Amino acid sequence: TSPDAVYNFAAGPGMMPHEVLLQVREELLDGQRSGMSVMEMPFAGEAFQAIQQQAQQDLRELLGVPADYRILFLQGGASAQFALLPMNLLPAGAKADYLDTGHWSRKAIAEGGRYVRINVAASGEAHGYRRIPAQTDWRLDPEAGYCHITSNETADGLAYHWLPNTGMVPLVADMTSDFLSRPLAVERFGVIYAGAQKNIGPAGLTIIIIRDDLLRRARPETPSVFNYRVQAESNGRVNTPLTHAIYIAGLVFRWLKRQGGLSAMAERNRRKSARLYDAIDGSGFYACHPRAMDRSPMNACFHLADDALTGKFLQSASAQGLLNLQGHPATGGVRASLYNAMPEAGVDALIAFMQAFALRHA
Ligand code: PLP
Repeated sequence: TSPDAVYNFAAGPGMMPHEVLLQVREELLDGQRSGMSVMEMPFAGEAFQAIQQQAQQDLRELLGVPADYRILFLQGGASAQFALLPMNLLPAGAKADYLDTGHWSRKAIAEGGRYVRINVAASGEAHGYRRIPAQTDWRLDPEAGYCHITSNETADGLAYHWLPNTGMVPLVADMTSDFLSRPLAVERFGVIYAGAQKNIGPAGLTIIIIRDDLLRRARPETPSVFNYRVQAESNGRVNTPLTHAIYIAGLVFRWLKRQGGLSAMAERNRRKSARLYDAIDGSGFYACHPRAMDRSPMNACFHLADDALTGKFLQSASAQGLLNLQGHPATGGVRASLYNAMPEAGVDALIAFMQAFALRHA
């Protein structure tokens, strides 16, 4: 592998489109021909307002966000939302349904449980988190104020390939690791939230998409900067927003549009993950634990038949420019994150390396 063909398989922050990085570099000192860096622009000034509005509009178009939903660009990452969601949606002592499908839903449950009474409607624990429980096995609480899912389990390599039906109960989803990887029926959700550091851009920025009627429920003690209604009404100007991160996110939305939008991305992501999973399944050397129908197109998690070889595998991969393939510390093994910016050539390079490594060590 030549030194310029380096592929970053990190789970987050993840690989960015090279084209976007070049544009950021080019505009670093003079954004939008303003004579200033975007980093220096006052957030309430015309130049930055135009950048923010354009980013919101491009995201609305990409996802087909209906008119009665607000898009918020907040700070704090997805973990902050684990607490802020219940604070914004339900009074103290109220109940909420949560699906336990792996590492990140467990985090959401642990933090959310400090603010609401949680009913775990179904758990994948008994199956070692190798499958998403079918909705026929869910036990929803009739008094729950919302139902929370983690659409893609970044550490376990699982994803929903179907949309749950929760009737009148708002469906809330942590989409941190699959946001913008495929088209989405936004109208089926009450709230969608995602940290930007996987498919979008710099860490710290959190995107919230929320239906208007859910904006009036925040507890009075909710901090204003994290109160979804207060932020929506001030267009994110309660305090200084993440101006440079919002600018970069906007460039990524534009890049996605140039790629053909989310259907084109979904098709490319499907091809990439299918090729890698096929190579794993056909190898007799690598094994992928999640069952085939629930595997994540974003984070392929797998093990070597001989776990003792994992260190050597990671080291050799890294020496060939295949970077950051180590599994999540909680699960170990190998994880290849195939976010939007990972080109098909990167996946092909990984597969070629895996096959050569298996031949050498079988
Ligand atoms: N939810 C999911 C599904 C994630 O993958 C992550 C991070 O990897 C988080 C939440 C936490 O995000 P943050 O680090 O932005 O708080």
